[in-house]
Amino acid sequence: MTVKTRFAPSPTGYLHIGGVRTALYSWAFAKHHGGEFLLRIEDTDLERSTQESVDIILQGMDWVGLHADNRDNIVYQSKNFPRYKALIQQLLDEGHAYHCYCSKEELEEMREKAEREGTATYDRRWRPETGKTLPPIPDGVEPVVRFKMPIDGVTRWNDLVKGEISIPNAALDDLIIARADGTPTYNFCVVVDDMDMGITHVIRGDDHVNNTPKQINILKALDATLPEYAHLPMILNEQGKKISKRSGDTVAVTEYEDMGILPEALLNYLARLGWAHGDDEFFTMPQFVQWFDLEHVSASPSRMDGKKLMWINAEHIKAADNAELAKLVLPRLEKQGIAVSGSLQLEDVLALVKDRAHDLNALAAECAYFYRKAVPPEADVAKHWDAEAPARMQRFAAKLAELPEQDWTAENIHALFAPFCEAEGIKMGKLGMPLRLAVCGTAKTPSVDAVLALMGKEEVLKRLAQ
Ligand code: GLU
Repeated sequence: MTVKTRFAPSPTGYLHIGGVRTALYSWAFAKHHGGEFLLRIEDTDLERSTQESVDIILQGMDWVGLHADNRDNIVYQSKNFPRYKALIQQLLDEGHAYHCYCSKEELEEMREKAEREGTATYDRRWRPETGKTLPPIPDGVEPVVRFKMPIDGVTRWNDLVKGEISIPNAALDDLIIARADGTPTYNFCVVVDDMDMGITHVIRGDDHVNNTPKQINILKALDATLPEYAHLPMILNEQGKKISKRSGDTVAVTEYEDMGILPEALLNYLARLGWAHGDDEFFTMPQFVQWFDLEHVSASPSRMDGKKLMWINAEHIKAADNAELAKLVLPRLEKQGIAVSGSLQLEDVLALVKDRAHDLNALAAECAYFYRKAVPPEADVAKHWDAEAPARMQRFAAKLAELPEQDWTAENIHALFAPFCEAEGIKMGKLGMPLRLAVCGTAKTPSVDAVLALMGKEEVLKRLAQ
């Protein structure tokens, strides 16, 4: 058996961070078993679904690098209506479904009664049964189609995350599978597609647990092989509430991109959010795929932890290939109006500064002064730039100027510091800090000899002269 999983987002907005974790676990499970991870766009709600949202979802999936194996053949539910229709007819023909002509008022009465009595909502008024006389068909009413749920016994499944779940069938309504206008309903479409796509493992959020017994019974009526189910607990915000845009939580994947989170860091973080492999916190996706199993997915909800995300991000920045990192930092510099030109390679700058930032925006800021001298903040000037500083910088510039171009290295620059400070009768701070301000325009830099070495003799002397 080839394991087949799917991610089935509804394109009604952005790509939700919780959705990405669901996709990640589905993807990793399939890859771990050498199987396939498929994408299905659940766009049967034609009013709420938009192409823009589909594009956002596809771009988000591409950005994190969760590539579907049916990328060139993504399933769109909106294209499957004829298939749904045919199967609804089949269920009607086989006696697994029936027409129901109830009016709104009748249904409302039933609902109130069911609430009082704690039973299933629909009283199965139109369900054909041997020996039962159905009500007369009212004039001018288009019927809905209802599915005949079993009445006795229980529907059970062994949830791969939550363990055995068993629902009394008496609690299951005879679900509407086609509306009066003939359009199929949500649960029916999911079932048909899971069957047609040959999905072996349905891995999804636990907000769908209540749908599962309905779906299982429809699958049985369609003679389909039942998939395994794994329902993932919610992701909560730092306050322990359901993560939501309204509460001001960072929800959309694009927001994480804007924050300067690396996709591999986001996936690493989400992987650990609700699943564990011993004490491992920092890992790559190939490692995750190798380790991932559903047994170690936690059955209780997990909480977002922004600090931990930033820590993991910093670790991934440190581990990233400098050329790859440069591709990500470049647009962020350009956004600040900083052109990366000249002989100084961004990769080399990154090698020097990349352990100083937790996100790509901060990292870009660390690179900025190599390409454009900043105006030092007032407070730094007041603190480090005394009356003697201009003349002292001139004297140090003269020492630097004596260093031949081919000897312009961090070690050789460093070797100038001690004798210079001794001759001036000052401590290193009195040289280093004004030097940073004069050359970089900021007091916050890595070791100043390394910065000067990388920046190059000509540029350093030019800035010191200024
Ligand atoms: N479209 C559903 C959602 O976005 C997912 C359905 C499923 O995974 O079965 O929540």
